[in-house]
Amino acid sequence: MPKKSVSDVVVKGRRVLVRVDFNVPQDDAGEITDDTRIQAALPTINHLVRNGAKVILMSHLGRPKGERKPEFSLAPVAKRLGELTDAQVHFADDCVGETATAAVNHCGYGEVVLLENVRFYKEETDNDPEFAKKLAEHGDVFVNDAFGTAHRAHSSTAGVASYVDEAVAGFLIQKELKFLVEELESPKKPFVVVMGGAKVSDKIAILERLMEKADSFIIGGAMANTFRFAQGYDIGKSFAQRDDEAVALAKGILKTAEEKNIPFLLPADTRHTEKFEDDAPTECTALWAEGGSVPADREGIDIGDKAIEEFSAELSKAGTIIWNGPMGVFEKRGFDIGTKAVGAAIAANDNALKIVGGGDSVTAANQFGFGEKMDHMSTGGGASLELLEGKELPGIAVLDDA
Ligand code: ADP
Ligand code: MG
Repeated sequence: MPKKSVSDVVVKGRRVLVRVDFNVPQDDAGEITDDTRIQAALPTINHLVRNGAKVILMSHLGRPKGERKPEFSLAPVAKRLGELTDAQVHFADDCVGETATAAVNHCGYGEVVLLENVRFYKEETDNDPEFAKKLAEHGDVFVNDAFGTAHRAHSSTAGVASYVDEAVAGFLIQKELKFLVEELESPKKPFVVVMGGAKVSDKIAILERLMEKADSFIIGGAMANTFRFAQGYDIGKSFAQRDDEAVALAKGILKTAEEKNIPFLLPADTRHTEKFEDDAPTECTALWAEGGSVPADREGIDIGDKAIEEFSAELSKAGTIIWNGPMGVFEKRGFDIGTKAVGAAIAANDNALKIVGGGDSVTAANQFGFGEKMDHMSTGGGASLELLEGKELPGIAVLDDA
């Protein structure tokens, strides 16, 4: 169901309460090390400012677990936001109560006030209705633009919507829905799904759902080890899910793909190592189909050279690509060859709509310099996975229908 957006409501002269995701990484000295999440909220904030709203922002930062802890203060974020927008940015030392109300009253129309961390109250994550009501008192309109927490039913992401006149989606959430839901309803063919990462069980719901739409699958990462194990191959000490349940899930997926006649490309060979550390020597197995195996004292940490070649060829033909999960242990030097190569193959396909979802996949794409080439890099890890699974996210379900 399409949701009303921030561009569908009159905001001039109104108090607009916006849930943003300002959960930014900081170093030990409290310096913000990456302000991507602040940048991602700017289109909504600037739209509201330009249109004469009083903009009241709320967010969480870290896990203060319901206690007021200075290291989780949003004050440094308010400062950075002030540098990134032309608008006047105020900071309120609390998110509810007298201090917050005074700060909201003091804030002018066309100005912004950021409230202190909502998770300084344990009521926030309990989705306590009284706390939600207190937050809602600050605004007439609620805008949810915190995609990264939209899969959580908390007071500031979901509960608050019941106590305002209108509840709508911000531009960031709208963009995420466009790419992770709408564009995938009838994707330009061939639709190639690239899956990797740690566990088959984490991704099983996505695999099953995308089976209905995808023209082919490319599988890498530790996930591929689980599939090879399920097929009865020797995978040595490779990280894999070897329990009966995971093996049954993997076998089930392989069977469905076969029945539906959907190419399901597992890595033809696997890169393995003896030592799990930066720059450790690695080598590729023989092709699995020709008797390949990972020796008993070694572990598969990446896709092999032949796999890279086959995956790249498949990706060059795609009309739509969704990439979720790295091909190997890309965090370690020398174990990142497959992830880099697959990222490069995706980036090189100028005809395809290219979408990256999942926290580590986005990190990898940025780290290797492919971010700019992608049509969409999701800003939510867990939230993007749940959307791809076809779930309705609580922070989006509560918004007014368009
Ligand atoms: P995403 O966050 O993109 O959804 P996941 O969280 O599922 O991805 O998986 C990412 C993790 O998978 C990375 O930390 C990476 O090191 C790990 N991984 C990938 N391939 C392997 C492998 N062969 N062995 C062990 N870990 C792997
Ligand atoms: Mg992850």
